[in-house]
Amino acid sequence: MTLIPILAKHVTVVVTRVLIKVNKLQLMDDLYFFGGKLVAHSQRSNIDIIKGTVMSEETIFSKIIRQEIPTPLLYQDELVSAFRDISPRVDSHILIVPNKHIATINDVTDEDELTLGRMITVAKKLAKEDGIDESGYRLIINCNSDGGQEVYHIHMHLLGGQPLGAMLSV
Ligand code: 5GP
Repeated sequence: MTLIPILAKHVTVVVTRVLIKVNKLQLMDDLYFFGGKLVAHSQRSNIDIIKGTVMSEETIFSKIIRQEIPTPLLYQDELVSAFRDISPRVDSHILIVPNKHIATINDVTDEDELTLGRMITVAKKLAKEDGIDESGYRLIINCNSDGGQEVYHIHMHLLGGQPLGAMLSV
């Protein structure tokens, strides 16, 4: 019974050593802890390796989450971050994003359920803080080209502050 945690610890130590070695060879530009996980980041290939697993290509949102691009964060915890949209379509336009890079809703797994739920509870909190909870708002997640997705790091749009009209204009 005690074998599994020992084995898990051993694997983590081995992977950490490999990552440090890779970092020493300067194949990776950055080695840091995020959300309790060891992350190695390469600027040249624009990838993150988290405990040995290569995550898919990141977008500008990862840089905002890590504050490499200074964008005021309205909220951040170990799972999600939130900031205002750079080009707001309505009076109140906030983006809520998972810290982990997930390209599209097609890529979410059962493991992401807590993160996806957190996106909604954070949306509710920020709607209240922005004073739009009573007047109302809309939450949107776009997926792929027909869905109008531009940034391939899933994000929830929190839109409000004015009447939003019909749900779709196609
Ligand atoms: P999508 O069409 O992918 O659902 O929405 C992407 C959103 O990200 C757009 O509303 C766009 O204005 C916003 N956006 C793109 N780049 C940046 C950025 O660098 N900073 C911020 N704050 N928002 C961005």
